[in-house]
Amino acid sequence: MDNSGLTNGSKHPKIAVLTSGGDAQGMNAVVRAVVRTAIHEGAVPYGVHEGWRGAVEGGDLIREMHWSDVSGILNLGGTTIGTARCAEFRERSGRRQAVKNLVQLGIDRIIAIGGDGTLTGADALRAEWPTLVDELLEAGEIDSETAATHHTAHLAGVVGSIDNDLVGSDMTVGADSALHRILEAIDAISSTAASHQRTFVMEVMGRNCGYLALMSAMAGGCDEVFIPEMPPDDGWQDALCQKVRAGRAAGRRDSIIVVAEGAKDRHGQAIHATDIRDVLADTLGEDVRVTALGHVQRGGTPSAYDRWMSTLLGYSAALDVLRADETHESHILATKHNRVTAIPMMEAVANTRAIASHLADGNYERAVASRGASYSSMINSFATLSSPVHLPQTPSPALGRAPRVAILHAGGLAPGMNTAARAAVRLGEDRGFTMLGVEGGFPGLIEGNIRTLTWADVDDWAGSGGAELGTRRTAPSIDQYYTLSKVLETNEIDAVLILGGFAGYEAAWNIVKERGRYPAFNIPFICVPASIDNNLPGSELSIGADTALNNITEVLDRIKQSASASRRCFVAETMGRRCGYLALMGGISSGAEQVYLSETGITLEQLSEEAKRMVSSFQGGRNLYLVVRNEEASPYYTTDLMTKVFAAEGDGIFDVRPAILGHMQQGGNPSPFDRTLALQLTAAAIDELARQFSTGKVKSSYVGMEEGETRIYPITHMDEQIDMDTRLPYDPWWAQLTEVLYTVADPGYAKHLT
Ligand code: ATP
Repeated sequence: MDNSGLTNGSKHPKIAVLTSGGDAQGMNAVVRAVVRTAIHEGAVPYGVHEGWRGAVEGGDLIREMHWSDVSGILNLGGTTIGTARCAEFRERSGRRQAVKNLVQLGIDRIIAIGGDGTLTGADALRAEWPTLVDELLEAGEIDSETAATHHTAHLAGVVGSIDNDLVGSDMTVGADSALHRILEAIDAISSTAASHQRTFVMEVMGRNCGYLALMSAMAGGCDEVFIPEMPPDDGWQDALCQKVRAGRAAGRRDSIIVVAEGAKDRHGQAIHATDIRDVLADTLGEDVRVTALGHVQRGGTPSAYDRWMSTLLGYSAALDVLRADETHESHILATKHNRVTAIPMMEAVANTRAIASHLADGNYERAVASRGASYSSMINSFATLSSPVHLPQTPSPALGRAPRVAILHAGGLAPGMNTAARAAVRLGEDRGFTMLGVEGGFPGLIEGNIRTLTWADVDDWAGSGGAELGTRRTAPSIDQYYTLSKVLETNEIDAVLILGGFAGYEAAWNIVKERGRYPAFNIPFICVPASIDNNLPGSELSIGADTALNNITEVLDRIKQSASASRRCFVAETMGRRCGYLALMGGISSGAEQVYLSETGITLEQLSEEAKRMVSSFQGGRNLYLVVRNEEASPYYTTDLMTKVFAAEGDGIFDVRPAILGHMQQGGNPSPFDRTLALQLTAAAIDELARQFSTGKVKSSYVGMEEGETRIYPITHMDEQIDMDTRLPYDPWWAQLTEVLYTVADPGYAKHLT
């Protein structure tokens, strides 16, 4: 192994990892990745148990960790190395004791996982470390060699907080899982609420940060949300009652209001769930129930995102401190656009803490601005989506009447298609468009299966899986173009919004090419990426891929559990066609030992090496070996063949079973991420249509989310971003994660490099 990146002269530096403050789902994934990356890099990892308390007390609370100590923890909520709050560590004397315990073990690199308190403690420790080492030397509590070798410390932080409150990071560890818990509750409650025409007020966590409340209200299709950063105007009680009444009048059967625990009014007066309940019950005479989710939000298994991203964070944090030199600053490893970025620790903590002061000072605009541009646009989109107020349909200057926009799905089913269709209807109506739903994709359009969709028609589509409008993979053939053009003309369709996959994109492009022959095609065809395969151009993620990944992760957890009583290898096959996204990310999220992707193919030599690794690991005591294979990884080495090869080589030492995950990957309600992505992408598509209707310029295009922003590309340039034959986008951002998977999954990988 190349140890050249390691510093401080030690061949095997020691690195400690701890979790402190409140626990969050995904902390275990960070710990696992730190430990295994450290081993891979030739360092020696230590676990500091019970947070900073472990550092202060020392002894058995600081223990060396081995590869297998972090086996089987990826799917566990909480933190297996324990967390605590420690008053002594807030004092210099406590930190002095911690330095003593750590340097005596030869540790001077630390990764702290926790909230802003934990990271403030980490920074104080780093700043005081050299003087504390001098003091310890002077007092004769450590020897001069120890003092000289460990005179400075390198610290990195990973934010474990379900609140998602760190300024400078898109997400914090645990926030996505907390959203999963909240959405599970909202989905469950909305079915009972609709049956009884009831109103529910749901209280979620978030003292200074309304992220969980806003995103869950948005993704859950709720009526109203109260967050600390946007206190309602005076008279909010009447406005709320009017909104709920208007929703009922528009056909809504249930009402759900989400309130963050830190919500306040403009005078700093707390707004509790019970206050809202009382207002609604008194004014509307409704049966209103309060549900406070409390610690449920912190619990349960981490979501797929909180596994793969936390793995990447732990991996990056370990490399950050192991490659640190004397000029190294303490960093927080934060997430930015699906990647990891290192930001200065104290600056990030100070900016985060400043939000509490902005709120206390009534400077709400600043508080919202600190959360980033997408936060305020989410606030605006929520207001539009949740308000059952119809604008009169406005004629477009170019058309002389209200534009008529047809929504259709194309390609395989993607969870989140309904969410996107609902958003399109409501955002489109808000722009004064007439929204039409096409049943059954392009074949349905050709048959004229078109109906008007209004606000209430899509009310319960926010969180439902499947596709109410139906989807088809079939694109119109050239000899159907005449009929298609007639349908567009007869129904006065001014734009087609295609919420779907590659089949829809390709169909749109082919139709656009025939504009010269069919004037009816001279309208915008706008594509929004919805495909579990995640292989669409111009978007890092497409709607449905996160849900599919969560489905895969859940099933692989069960498969792994089923093998715990035997000695078994599973060859699991995921969907994705030729795109390896689901297989790779499913492999990282479930702790697979190996992943085979079509991008890299499969060779006989690889299978032979794999079989040897399997035999030696089962002989070494392992009872499970998980191989994940993308469905089109190889036309020759099929899942069945691989199963047989491994079984033959295993020669009875272990069983081998295939597990074709199949269509369960497309099922289920969309994940919170897919719902919010659907809203953002659809909003961008509707904005684009509004622009085109107002200028009269027609451009067919596709929208996507890249580097945290929505982008629009002309459909005619699609082949610049994707190989039209293999249907694989060029240079996918996730391909580099293969290295991370091997680093944390395969001890042999470490050995083979040393
Ligand atoms: P959460 O967001 O869940 O509250 P947190 O990390 O902010 O997590 P805290 O209780 O604030 O939780 O901090 C955890 C621990 O970090 C404290 O018990 C203490 O040991 C240490 N700590 C917090 N603030 C400081 C500080 N200012 N100086 C030194 N150590 C601190």
